[in-house]
Amino acid sequence: MPIYDYVCHACDHEFQLVERISEHEKTKPKCPECKSTKVERVLTGAFVKTGKKS
Ligand SMILES: [Zn+2]
Repeated sequence: MPIYDYVCHACDHEFQLVERISEHEKTKPKCPECKSTKVERVLTGAFVKTGKKS
C-alpha cells in the first residue's frame, strides 16, 4: 500500500497516511493534530502544490 505524506495548512503538522487508492479517492484525509481537513499531499523531499481539483 502506498504511503502518502501530508502537511496540514491549519497547524503545519506533517503526517503520513497509508491508504489504498480506492480509499484515497473517496476519503478526506484529516490532520491527526487538529482534525482539520485543510491538508495537502506532499511528495517526499519536495513540496508540491496540487491546486487542481479533478
Ligand atoms: Zn493540523
